Amino acid sequence: MSESATVFKNLIAGEWTESVSGKTFANINPADTRDVVGQFQASVVADAQAAIQAASSAFAQWRRTPVTARARIVNKAADWLESHADTFAQELTREEGKPLAQSRDEILRSAQVLRFYAVEAQSFTGETFPSDDPEQHVYTQREPLGVVTVITPWNFPISIPARKIAPALMAGNTVIFKPSSDAPLIGYRLAEAFAQAGIPAGVLNFITGRASDIGAAITESPVVRAISFTGSTAAGEHIHRSVPITTRTQMELGGKNPLIVMDDADLDRAVDLAVKGGLSLSGQACTGTSRILVMESVRETFTAKLVERVKSLKIGSGVTPGMDLGPLANRKQLESVLGYVASGKEQSTHLIGGEQLTGEGFEHGYYVTPAVFSDVPESARIYREEIFGPVLAITSVTGYDDAIAKANDTEYGLSAAIATSNPRYMHRFADEIEAGTVKINRTTTGNVINAPFGGLKRSSTSTFRESGRAGLEFYTQIKTVYRGL
Ligand code: NAD
Repeated sequence: MSESATVFKNLIAGEWTESVSGKTFANINPADTRDVVGQFQASVVADAQAAIQAASSAFAQWRRTPVTARARIVNKAADWLESHADTFAQELTREEGKPLAQSRDEILRSAQVLRFYAVEAQSFTGETFPSDDPEQHVYTQREPLGVVTVITPWNFPISIPARKIAPALMAGNTVIFKPSSDAPLIGYRLAEAFAQAGIPAGVLNFITGRASDIGAAITESPVVRAISFTGSTAAGEHIHRSVPITTRTQMELGGKNPLIVMDDADLDRAVDLAVKGGLSLSGQACTGTSRILVMESVRETFTAKLVERVKSLKIGSGVTPGMDLGPLANRKQLESVLGYVASGKEQSTHLIGGEQLTGEGFEHGYYVTPAVFSDVPESARIYREEIFGPVLAITSVTGYDDAIAKANDTEYGLSAAIATSNPRYMHRFADEIEAGTVKINRTTTGNVINAPFGGLKRSSTSTFRESGRAGLEFYTQIKTVYRGL
């Protein structure tokens, strides 16, 4: 199969080009590792430099392109995604593993994000300020930064790039986009959508390859004025420390997201929040629920209900209709999750799951059954470290104060949820939880496209938010103008 796999090229300076390395790497289907989805360019520093050069040369003209003309291109790219949603969803599921319906939703949502920024950027302006001098007009104007780099992970391989690239382009910047090597095809489709929409050469450049080969080149160049990165805390913090001081960064990183279950909560609903928040996408969402802090008085009932629900979940290839969980995204993920399951068994009570599936239909994929642990102490690895897999850790709490203290006892602060019917707890939780996304009777996962998104503590650099209007703020700089007569 691998010999006949399509070779996908980089997009540099408006041309689909091969890497000067002459090498490619394989994009593998995690549901069936015999299936090579495509070959992608194993780019090297010279390719990265060509992309930076192209983006730099294109900037002057793009910055002067009227915002309505930019919007026409961005909307056309959205049309392309929408009209190809079914085929692209098949491709996304094939390379990443998530159920087909979720892939389709992600593509349509990405188109919506493009349309949102095509409109929002048209009314994104500066401010005017009162001045004592009647002959002086004081105002701010926003302008693009220049060349920006967008680096993204494999778990939402089109919606995360879309929410970074659309505001960057609409604000007048030129872009270098590097997708994850585990799901580069849908990123390629996004670049293709812009190319066929008529984006001028060099305004959006798409480059694939290993972070160890091109990572430094696309982040450390002083020509790159900003980096929007989503991925692991280790990689994000490394990049943040390595770039010139003049480079603006936006780092959306890991999480260890808690769900608090109070004794006044509707327990069936709380189970729903735990299962949807913790196990959809096979637990591979940055905002996925990972720790469940449940009141001792309802712990037994809640846990029994949760285990029953987990038993009923269906696991299988994302292309099979009705599956709740697909495979994990790659071998590293599989090994890491199995390692956490083993440590969970040593450090807490194992209730269900965590086995690799190897029987018929599963033997060539990275399948693991969802796992639930209880009596998880705060010192356990599965309590403290981001697992990024279908593993739920239950810890009991004695009251609200104990719950909030435990919820905040983490280096991360991406998302957090509480299940309660008590307005007092709702209010206190929103006030006291150390997380950038706060959910009350909602899953830790999921965010709307028109509101800011980002984490606190080590889940984000806490510089700029992305999504919504905040996305445009990141990609623009402010000048204060004093105009006299
Ligand atoms: P990763 O950090 O391994 O890789 C993310 C991207 O960064 C990839 O494209 C990778 O090639 C690139 N990269 C890695 N090191 C680099 C370097 N030194 N220079 C330049 N590029 C580099 O993460 P992953 O395994 O793809 O994704 C999983 C992680 O992403 C999890 O930790 C998860 O929590 C996080 N994530 C966070 C959010 C969020 O919004 N906060 C969303 C999704 C995923």
